[in-house]
Amino acid sequence: MTGKPVISPQRCKGCGLCIGACPKKILEMSKETNKQGVHYPVCKDESQCIACTFCATMCPDIAIEIIKY
Ligand code: SF4
Ligand code: SF4
Repeated sequence: MTGKPVISPQRCKGCGLCIGACPKKILEMSKETNKQGVHYPVCKDESQCIACTFCATMCPDIAIEIIKY
């Protein structure tokens, strides 16, 4: 299965749980900040996403949705 994470910067509180949860280590914190001044995750290589949904499941703020192909 492949997929990609769709991340909502404005919902993110910057806790970083999703980054630690990703088995492919493809999430990293943004250089930019959202309207609350918080860094949010960005995916550095969508081609590596296996659509495991660990990142989305871990997020306490429902800021990530996984599109599955
Ligand atoms: S769905 Fe899995 S592989 Fe894809 S970004 Fe989230 S944790 Fe990483
Ligand atoms: S788990 Fe959710 S709130 Fe925490 S950094 Fe990731 S997207 Fe943001």
